[in-house]
Amino acid sequence: MAASLQIPLVNPPAAAPGVPADNERYSRQILFPGIGESGQQRLASAHVAIVGCGATGAASASLLARAGVGHLTLIDRDFVEASNLQRQVLFDEADAADALPKAEAARRKIALFNSTITVTPQIADLVPANINELLQTADIILDATDNFETRYLINDFAVQQGKPWIYAAAIGAYAATMNVLPINEDRTRAEATACLACIFPKPPAGTTETCDTAGILSTAVNFAASIQVTETLKYLTGQSALMRRSLLSFDLWTNDRSEISATKPDPSCTVCGQREFTHLAGTARPHITLCGRNSVQIHEHHRPVDLAAMHARLAPHGLVRSNDLLLRLERPPHTITLFADGRAIIQGTTDPMIARSLYARFVGS
Ligand SMILES: [Zn+2]
Repeated sequence: MAASLQIPLVNPPAAAPGVPADNERYSRQILFPGIGESGQQRLASAHVAIVGCGATGAASASLLARAGVGHLTLIDRDFVEASNLQRQVLFDEADAADALPKAEAARRKIALFNSTITVTPQIADLVPANINELLQTADIILDATDNFETRYLINDFAVQQGKPWIYAAAIGAYAATMNVLPINEDRTRAEATACLACIFPKPPAGTTETCDTAGILSTAVNFAASIQVTETLKYLTGQSALMRRSLLSFDLWTNDRSEISATKPDPSCTVCGQREFTHLAGTARPHITLCGRNSVQIHEHHRPVDLAAMHARLAPHGLVRSNDLLLRLERPPHTITLFADGRAIIQGTTDPMIARSLYARFVGS
C-alpha cells in the first residue's frame, strides 16, 4: 500500500500575490554561513555594474539577480542574435527575432524571476566620455567585455577612483579571471592587489582570437561567471580579505590550469604605480569589429537620432523595421542597425571603409 501524503489544502499566505517573501526567496543562501542574514541585507543595498551583457555578462547578471543584489547596471552596445542563444543565458528566440538590445532584453528577463531588485539597462558603448556617468555609483565593476581596449579603460577608471573590478574572459574551453582591488582611502598599498596593467602591460598574446576563430563553450563562460560572482559576493558582504589574489586560468577541455600571483601592485606599473591613465584620457576610438560575426560598429557619431523620422526616410531604400530602441535597414548583403544614440552596427562586412560609407549614405556623416 502506498504511503499517504499530507497535502495542505491551503497554501501559506505569501507576502504579495506571486512574489515570494524575501526571507523565503533567499532562505537557502542565508543558511550558507558566508552570507547569513546580515550578508543578505548588505547584498540588497549593493550596486553592481556589469560592462557587457553577452555570454559572461548575462550569466553574471543572472547569478547576481537571483542572489538578491539590489541594483544592477547592465551596459551593452549590442543586440540579440540567434548565434547568441547557445551560451547567453538571459535571451530567447523572441529576443533574437526582435533584435532586442541585450541590456533591455536582460532587464525584461530578470524581472520575470526577480522583480524585487532594480535593473538599469544602458544601451551604450563604454567610452572615456561616458564612463564616469555609467560607473561612478557602482560599488564594484564586473568586466564581461570581449576586448582588452575596454578592459584597460575600466582598469584606468577603477584605479583612479579606488574602485574594485573583476576581470573575466572566456574563449574556446578556456576561462580566466582576476580581482583588482586598487588603493583607496580604506585600502592601503599593502592591502591592494596588482592591477590589470601590472600583469599585462600590453594585451596578452592570443587575445586576437575571437569567438569567430576559436569558438566558445558555454561551460567556459559559466565557469568564469561563477567565480566572478562568488568573488563579488565576498566583496559586497565585507569579506574582501577572502578574495583570491591571483590571475586564475583554467582550460575545461584539457584540464590545464595556472595561477599567477597578483598579490602586490608592481611599483613600475604605469597605471597603478605612476597613475598615468592614458586609456581614460583617450579620445573616441575608431571602428571596432565585433566578436562573433561579420560586422563593424560605428560609434564616432554620438548624437541622438529620431528613429521614427529615420524610418520614414529610409523606407524607400530597403526593408526597414524599428521600435523605440533601434532601427534596422536590410539591404542585402548589408544590414544596418541604428541605435537611438547615433551608434550603428553594419553587418555583412568587416571593412571599416564600406561600413563608414554605408553609414554616411543612409544615416549621415
Ligand atoms: Zn598596476
